[in-house]
Order: sequence, then structure tokens, then C-alpha cells
Amino acid sequence: MNQVLVLNQDYQAISLVDVQRAFILILLNKANTVEAYEDVKLRSVKEEFDFPSVIRLNSYVNLPFKKISLTRQNVFRRDGNKCVYCGSRERLTLDHVIPKAQGGRTVWNNMVTACYKCNSRKGDLSLKEAGMTLKVKPFRPSFIMFLSQFSGRVDDSWKPYLLMS
Ligand SMILES: [Zn+2]
Repeated sequence: MNQVLVLNQDYQAISLVDVQRAFILILLNKANTVEAYEDVKLRSVKEEFDFPSVIRLNSYVNLPFKKISLTRQNVFRRDGNKCVYCGSRERLTLDHVIPKAQGGRTVWNNMVTACYKCNSRKGDLSLKEAGMTLKVKPFRPSFIMFLSQFSGRVDDSWKPYLLMS
């Protein structure tokens, strides 16, 4: 329990930070506590502080390019670490749905997780030519999807804000 959800001024969830970072933002008057854990307090010698679970920035931060980068690890994550063709979790690699040789680009909606076997079977063929089908259509994941799915834990107090985003 040391992660804090950060909301933009308009209450949109934008990030997770550790509690130390959250405190610095609060002490610098850059953020306020929106939700706090009820049963935990932080104590200094003289004072007692709420242990924040959600903080909100006092000024709006413009984040137009907050995107998940297209990396091998992130494609695996999006696909639940299994082959999109057969569901295998072994020897995973990346596959271009429309093969590079046929002009397929390295973009989110053309990249999938494939096991070594399916990847070699497909080779430079299209889905149709290889007679293969995708279990899930590839898509660009949103930042919030990754945030909530992969922080390892979603605190109940975060949920209303994650749904809003
Ligand atoms: Zn496979």
C-alpha cells in the first residue's frame, strides 16, 4: 500500500506515484489529498498526516502525448502474455498480422503476441493465406488500462476515478 493515484485538476487519473512523492507534492502545495486510507496515518514528531490514496493536482497539467509506447513487453502485456493465435504461453515473440513483406507496419493494431510455433507457421503470409485467425483484435491500449491492470493492485478508492478516465 504505497502507491497513490494522481488526478489532474479536472479529476482525470493520470499517474501513480509512491507515497513519498505524493507527500512532496502536497507539502509543496502542488496537490491536495482527495481520498485517504482510513486506518493508516503518517506521523512526524509533532504532527499526524492522512495517508493519501488519491491526490489531485492544483493546476492542470497538459498531457497530450501520454501514450503507452509500443514495445515488446507492452504488446505481451496487452495480450495477457499469451499467443493470440493458439493461447500458448511458451516461447513468445512478436508477430506482424499483416506481414512486413506485404507492407504491414509496426503499429499497435498490427502487432500481436505469437508463440514461436504460430509465428513460424505464419511466416510472411497474411492471416487468410495462412488459414489462421486472431482470438483478439489488436488495439492501442490506453494509459489508464495499463495503469489499473498492471499496477498490481487497484485500490477501491481509485475506482470511481479510473472509470471516469
Ligand atoms: Zn501460438
